[in-house]
Amino acid sequence: MLRRLAAAALLVGAGFVVLQVPPATAAPACSVDWTANQWATGFTADVQVTNGGAPVTSWTLSWTFSGDQRVTNGWNATVTQTGNVVTAASVGWNGALATGASTRFGFQATFSGTNAKPADFTFNGVSCSGDNPGPTPSSPSPSPSSPSPSPSTSTPPQEGCVPAASCDSFETQTGTTPGGNWAVSYPDCSGAGTAAIDRSVAHSGAASLRVNGAAGYCNHVFVRNTQLLGTAGSVWYVRYWVRHTTALPASHVTAVAMRDANDGNRDLRFGGQNGALQFNRASDDATLPEQSPAGVALSAPLPVNVWNCLEFKVDGRDGTIETWLNNSPVPGLVEDGVPTHDIDSQWLNRTWRPALTDLRLGWESYGEGADTLWYDDVAVSAVRNGC
Ligand code: CA
Repeated sequence: MLRRLAAAALLVGAGFVVLQVPPATAAPACSVDWTANQWATGFTADVQVTNGGAPVTSWTLSWTFSGDQRVTNGWNATVTQTGNVVTAASVGWNGALATGASTRFGFQATFSGTNAKPADFTFNGVSCSGDNPGPTPSSPSPSPSSPSPSPSTSTPPQEGCVPAASCDSFETQTGTTPGGNWAVSYPDCSGAGTAAIDRSVAHSGAASLRVNGAAGYCNHVFVRNTQLLGTAGSVWYVRYWVRHTTALPASHVTAVAMRDANDGNRDLRFGGQNGALQFNRASDDATLPEQSPAGVALSAPLPVNVWNCLEFKVDGRDGTIETWLNNSPVPGLVEDGVPTHDIDSQWLNRTWRPALTDLRLGWESYGEGADTLWYDDVAVSAVRNGC
């Protein structure tokens, strides 16, 4: 992008002809790659800013919203708004940007009407008139900015979370009863199943969600979030960290449930059976994988007493599912739209185009099976979050 133009002289015959060239054009102060994921009343934006000028040790990026957008929270930058003007300020670990270097931050906002990308970015007070307006290919697996964290500086506000995701690491919880966007529910009757914020165990930060899961109908318990899934449109990459004390039982259990508005509000369930992870569709009890020994062998147990990174993608556009456990794809937890013996031929008995509307973390046993589980760093986005 930087161009150096130098005057040139050519010797022609016996005389000199000086070619006039324009003076060197100042490089734009920055370029901005802006990716918004919006729903009816809000959006998240993943913003990559590239320093087009001299190296800086800290930065601010400012812009003006043309509509009624209001920032509610940010990550990897301190994002503040006055009227329609928003300023994102670097945090300690991402302030230093060499010429040409990039970093990413994000925020969540509400809006009504239209939600146009801002056009007037300034970087450390200098207009980014060379803002790159062209479409920038977005990577399907964006790598979060890789800062060199220095121990004495501030950390992102959502510890354990990634840019471009709606994320909850339970760090903003104030009591032991889950609050804010989380609410405990006992879907059947209230018994020994309980859920609470735990400040003695955490994957990141100081807090996690603990579920004491017990066998039996009256012990079903979930902690419900109606906000996280709303950010991703019709494709949901869900990532969470979980640890638990007891191997998955032979009986069917559910640990994560998501209401499917396109399936009579019945749940898409994620849990286990025959000792391995399993999806289950409540409306017709289809399982993924099929519970043949060969099918179960293509899934995986959930290791106990360690933090596990679980990721799955549910695509409402074509009804496909992909799953990763600790970064490894799990072949038995893939529904690719093509019937595969022992895996997804039962699931594909009918057309399924899920519209997921909530995320519930908890424990539901239909026979045997008790467990204690901790959940942390729950992230949902339209692209893979990673671990
Ligand atoms: Ca946490």
